[in-house]
This record gives sequence, C-alpha cells and structure tokens, in this order.
Amino acid sequence: MRLYLAITLTVFSLAHPSQAGITSHFDAEHQTWAYSNGLIEARFELNPAGLFRFVGLRTRAGAEWRSAFPGNSSPICFRLGGKDRWDESRTFRLVSHGLRRPGADSARLSIVLDDLRRTGQVTLEFDLYEGHPVLRYGVRYRNLTESPTYVTRAAPVSWELSDGGERYRAMRVEQWMPVEDPADFDAIVTTLAEDATPVSVDTGAHGRYCTWLALADRQSRGLAWGWEFDGRATVTAAQNAEWARLSLQSHIPDLFHQVAPNAEFQVPRAFVAAFQGDWDAAAHATQRFVERALAKPAPPARNGKAFPYAAWDSWAYGQDIDEAKLRRNAEAAARMGIELFIVDLGWARMLGDWREDPKKFPSGLRALSDYVHGLGMQFGVHFAFGEAMAEAPVFQSPSHQDWTSSVNYGYYGARSLCLAHDPVRRWIVEQAVRIIDEYNVDWILQDGENMVRECRKDTHTHHPGDSNYAGAVDGLGWILREIQSRRPHVAWENCENGGNLMTFQMVQNYVTSIVNDASGARDARKATSGATFPFPARYADRYMPEDRMIPYVTRSYLFGGPWIFMNQLTQFSREDFEFASAEVARFKDIRGLVTAGKILHLTEPAAAGRTDAIAAWDSATETGVAVVTRDNTPHGDTFWLRIPEADAERSYRIRFAEAPGTFTYGGQQLRTQGVPVKLPGEWYSEVVYIDGIK
Ligand SMILES: [Zn+2]
Repeated sequence: MRLYLAITLTVFSLAHPSQAGITSHFDAEHQTWAYSNGLIEARFELNPAGLFRFVGLRTRAGAEWRSAFPGNSSPICFRLGGKDRWDESRTFRLVSHGLRRPGADSARLSIVLDDLRRTGQVTLEFDLYEGHPVLRYGVRYRNLTESPTYVTRAAPVSWELSDGGERYRAMRVEQWMPVEDPADFDAIVTTLAEDATPVSVDTGAHGRYCTWLALADRQSRGLAWGWEFDGRATVTAAQNAEWARLSLQSHIPDLFHQVAPNAEFQVPRAFVAAFQGDWDAAAHATQRFVERALAKPAPPARNGKAFPYAAWDSWAYGQDIDEAKLRRNAEAAARMGIELFIVDLGWARMLGDWREDPKKFPSGLRALSDYVHGLGMQFGVHFAFGEAMAEAPVFQSPSHQDWTSSVNYGYYGARSLCLAHDPVRRWIVEQAVRIIDEYNVDWILQDGENMVRECRKDTHTHHPGDSNYAGAVDGLGWILREIQSRRPHVAWENCENGGNLMTFQMVQNYVTSIVNDASGARDARKATSGATFPFPARYADRYMPEDRMIPYVTRSYLFGGPWIFMNQLTQFSREDFEFASAEVARFKDIRGLVTAGKILHLTEPAAAGRTDAIAAWDSATETGVAVVTRDNTPHGDTFWLRIPEADAERSYRIRFAEAPGTFTYGGQQLRTQGVPVKLPGEWYSEVVYIDGIK
C-alpha cells in the first residue's frame, strides 16, 4: 500500500479522464481539496474560521452541485450527549491528510481533524474508483477525553445543496413488508414540493424502503444516495425553492452509543452516485459501483456452476421433510440441472436447537449432504440464528434466560434473541461454525424476523438506548463478519422473513437476497423490477411455488439472481419435468448477461391485465436479453419491444424462445418502433435474444 501526500500541482481537468486517474489537489493556502477521478470531482474546504465544509460536486457530464450557501453543508454531522454538535458549525484544525491507493484503480482520501478544544478527532474518508461517477464517504469520531462519551445523533446523509432553480423528482423503492399496508418493491416517483415538504424513506430492518434515494432535475441530471446501515434510518429530501435550497438529511433513531476514551465511532458510510438520464441510468451507476466497491463477491464458478445458481428449496413440504423425501428430490433436482440444494426450515430439532432431528434424519444430515454433493450439487441449510423456542436447550441454563430481546417478534413461535448481547452473539458464532463443519454446508439461507431488534434491557452488554445501532453493527454485522472470517467459503443468502433488509450493508455480507417471499409469478416479476433499481440483479432471488410448468410461470422467475424451485419435484409429470429442465438450461444461458448487463425497465412493473418487459443489455458486446410477459392482457397478441440502448448504426439478429426463426433488424427500428413479439395466449411469456451484428 502506497501513501501519497496529497499536495500536488496537478491541474484538474475533467476533459481528459483517461489521463487524469484519481487525483487530489490540496491548496495549502486556502485549505481546499479538489478530489477527482475524471468523472466526478468533489471539493471540500477547511475555511479560515476552522469550519470543515462541502463546497461542490461536479461531473464530467456537466452537472454541478454546489453547497446551498457558502459553507453550510458538511459531511460531518453527529452529536454527543444532549447538545454537543459536531457539524458544519464546529471548528477544527487540520492534523493530517493523505491519499492512499488500496488498488490500482481506487483511492481513499483521508482528512484528520481535531476539534479546537481537543476533545475529539474526526477522520473523514472519501473513496473514488476509476470509471465510476460515485463518491463514497465515511466519518469516524475518536473520543480524546478521559471519560466515555455518547453518540446520540448521526447522519450518514447530510447535504445542503443549491437547488439551481430546478425542479426535482425523487425515486424510492419499497422493500418487502407483509403487513396490513403491505410493501412489495414498488418503485415510487414523487415530484418534490417546492415548500420544503420532504420525501422520506424509512429504511433498514423492519423499515419500509430500500436504503436508496435518487433525485433528478428536469434536464435528467441526477444524484442517487445509498447508505450502508442495516438498522433503522430515515432519510429525507426536501426542496425549499424560496431559499433555492435542496436538503438531504438523515436520522438514526434510538442511538445512544458509548465511546470509551480513545475509542472510535463510525457513522454508517454512504455514497452518492451521479447520473445523467432516466432511472435506469441511476440504477446502472449505482449497481456498477456496488459490484465494484461494496458487494460480497459472487461465489466463483466451479464445475460448470456459475453464480447465480439454479436452486431447489424444500419448503414445498413445509417442515414435513425427511431424508427419504429429500434424497428423491435431490436425485430429480440433479437430473433437472439444479446446482444448489437447500434444506429449509424443519431440519433441526427445533428453532434454537441446531442439531438435525434424528427422527427425520436417522442417517444424519451429513449423510444427506454427502449424497447431495455426490450428485454434483452444493448443499445449503436454513439457519434462523436469532430465534429459539422457549424449550430449546439454550434456555436451560439460568444465565441464558435473559438472552432474549425486550421486544419479541414471534418467528414461528420462537423467542427473539438479542444479537447485540455479547454472550448471545458468541454462542451464535459457535453454532454456525459447528453446523457448517458437521454438515459440510456450502450455503446458508439466513432467515429470521427483524434482524435488528429493539432491546431496552439494561442487563445486556449494549446500552439499553442503543439497540438499533448496536444490533446492526455490533450484533448482526459482528456475527456475520466473525462467522464469515472463520468459514469464508460459505455463501450467505439474506432473508429477513422475506426481502426486508435491502441495504447497502446487506450486500457486503450476502451474495444474494430474497425479494418477496414465494408470492407467485406476477409478484416475483414485480419485485424483481423494483429491486433492480437499487440493487444488482443478483440480489433479486425468487422462490417459485407453482407446480404448473408453463412459460408464463417459469419465465416469471427467469430474470434475476438465483432461481429457487420450491416444488415437490417427484410429483412433476414427465412433460413438466422436461420443460423445467429446458428452462433451467435457458436460465444458465442468460444469467451471465442478466447479472452483468444494464437493467432496462422497459414497461411499468407487472400487474394483472397488462404486459410487462424487462431486459439486460451489455453495451460492450451489443447483446441483450428480454423477458416479455403477458398477464391476462386483453388484445395483447403482439408486444412491440423497444431497446433504447441499441445502436442506430448497427444491425441486430433477433431470435425467440418460442417463436421460430431468426430476424435481422436495424438498430434504429429497435430503438423507435421496436420489434414485434408474439404472445399468442392470455397468460404467456417470451424470451427475446438480441445480438449485435459486427
Ligand atoms: Zn439486548
């Protein structure tokens, strides 16, 4: 790792990004930083009064975002105790600054400031990656006093921008909440009011929205923010046109985090991505960055098995599983081309007693795992590590009686464990490592209800007022980090009783996530459409409960991350089995393109009575794949598929999964009129393959 002092004489130029690389220009006289990768430049200053402030962001595409008034915006935004504010109004002195290069194409600018009274130190970190118009940032506080301090407010998103006289639309995306007012990955676009009425997103475990908020002006210039926190957080965007001001603010509820002398507190990191174009452009900028900088790498391809996998899950049997049934399904799954075999809830003696049920598995779960491996598949198990039945052996010890969180979430009748309580998290890590080793596990389907629990107990190792931050960072985050560092080969799927932890911290811990929970064909398409705005397509996995193997059904699950069959395969007719096998092969054929390409949301999301289409497009190879689904659409025999990304100067070869023949179309037609896709049934789905001709 090389360390550069950031005092350079480089003249910043956005016009020549290929020559620029990542540069940080520090003006020592004015104490200003200009930090750029040629696509985005961020400017900050430590002004003569000692105030550290954001100055502006500008992009190569020509957009410029300035601080609202000179210097009232700062990435430093937290509070100690009742009213000790650390923000744009606090005075600092510069201790040090420097640019590190952790990799050939990335850099981290660190700026260390002491507050003038030397009660604390703030370290700002700004990350840039070449080729990405995205600034990632984080703020850390160190307690320099002799006594503990308490962080009571922290804002991962804090930007006061000039509105530039523009109007703005905001996009936010729901996660999955099967409640009275259900949320199911709706992507909601709202025009910002000019009177400072905020658009608000409530995110994290048991929140309503994904941790993403995109804003675009009338010229389709936009910024998208993402924050890396699994606990609850609220982010708001508001425009006050009278004051020409665009405010992005955030709040982490129930924060009361003790910082011991000389210890540090990390405000959850966040990033801001610049884009030019429609919401697909916002999504693409976000997703490319997430894959480059944040996401847990996908499992490497082995023996022809590439990620995302074709998978099978035992939930078609509920908890009524046993080794004989599972062996028969494993044999059928392997013949169908399934690559990952998952034993869902019901294999253990009970929730919290994570040993196999000897009545269901007289030969032991390891024997089943060996059988599955012998068939060439990976072996996965369901693991709801935060849940334990009252009669589970873990509660037999009197000192463990107090291991529950003060709020109970009732997952399948279990008691909720407090993940932020140190003895609990250590016990969970032991259980996980033992399960992985004893049963030779490749994949964990991690389930549970609200993985960041409210817990007001004063008998636990966390502060009673801090369960949101402690539960997210010191609980769930610590547990996953600890298990994964000890058993790094195991891949984890996020499931919080469905897709309810759709955060940019989640992507760092898991290789995929469930979206909605086996909600059926239409909802699977709808959820995939919504989730693939903030998240790469591999973070939209789909559970297929239907048993009728027809194109309408299978193709509703074809597009996205892992495709998880949840059927009694031994009950399939020969015809259904053969069609499903062919569809698994089709999924494997397109998965590389779907997970690497730009996602094109070509229509409104799935709904009864209309036809929906989604595509992935690789502009490097000029290839694409689209899934077009007719959902009982009246008079919907022909759908005109338009690909706005197509090159007008080029020709494309088009073929279909169902309709015979190969056709050649000009790019101009593909962009404008489109190509006709025949949908000769009211419930029907077609796959369209598009290949640019060199
Ligand atoms: Zn607790």
